[in-house]
Amino acid sequence: MSIISLLLLTFLVFSAASQAFGREVVVYSARKEHLIQPLFDTYTRETGTRIKYITGKAGALLERIKAEGKNTPADLLITVDAGNLWHAAEAGILQAVVSPTLENNIPAHLRDPDNMWFGLSIRARTIVYNSEKVKPEDLSTYESLAENAWKGRLVLRTSKKVYNQSLVAMFLAEYGEEKAKEIVSGWVKNLATLPFSSDTKVLEAIAAGQGDVGIVNTYYYGRLMKKTPNLPLKLYWPNQGKNGVHVNISGAGVTRHAKHGKEAVKLLEWLSSEKAQNLFADSNMEYPANPDVEPHPIVLSWGKFKQNLINLQHAGKLQAAAVRIMDMAGYK
Ligand code: FE
Repeated sequence: MSIISLLLLTFLVFSAASQAFGREVVVYSARKEHLIQPLFDTYTRETGTRIKYITGKAGALLERIKAEGKNTPADLLITVDAGNLWHAAEAGILQAVVSPTLENNIPAHLRDPDNMWFGLSIRARTIVYNSEKVKPEDLSTYESLAENAWKGRLVLRTSKKVYNQSLVAMFLAEYGEEKAKEIVSGWVKNLATLPFSSDTKVLEAIAAGQGDVGIVNTYYYGRLMKKTPNLPLKLYWPNQGKNGVHVNISGAGVTRHAKHGKEAVKLLEWLSSEKAQNLFADSNMEYPANPDVEPHPIVLSWGKFKQNLINLQHAGKLQAAAVRIMDMAGYK
């Protein structure tokens, strides 16, 4: 090898390395630092791409990207709840991503029909009951919790949180306004206590006998049972003979003014892959969005269930209408 070609080779190796070193992607995440950091570390180890990120509340991050406009450093927005992702798309801060990998890895109901956002983990919002006071045979559907049999026994989280807004929005999408109103009014009539500020408080109230049954995201159940395994709480999968369990997502979208758009898409695709899905979902005891990936054994031990396949865009589209119905029903 001549000196010149050796020099050339050295130059090529050096520039490839410096390019790899220079590759980066900037993430704004409403998913908490301890949930994303291990994932990002793995990605950087595998690809050499550095990930810079900030974390914050979903609404605040959305406003920030809006305010930053074309100058936003954000390439990828990660947030919880399809309602929030839908709002981000509506606000014009996301761009469509056409990716066979994402289409293949993420089922259609968990992503935007216009490819603005993609679910990365599933959060099931299901029924929880006090196993000393309720038999699973007594339970059937979300809507049956509006029946007289549950008078003074139902515990709910506040209607101010997007989780229940999304649930009611899905009732609106599937059952129409009359029936949705009827369900929510029935719930309010059956409340055992004023609504609580968190799912964990709902679980604790049911365990303490303040009420018998409630509706929560399963990962809160997982966290509480890990801390205090002997609580008389069990999960129930409703609507199994019908439309299935209400699921929501945590997910992501590439920003409209991304400076590292290609890198952002690559990261998003990687996050949907079999390799990353357990890292993404298991740390919060959620379900992988990619159906080829099994959930964590603890999560699996809660049983398999049929999930509602209605597209999650309705959670955003019908959110305002859902809030109105909850207001009218006196659901605080
Ligand atoms: Fe949550």
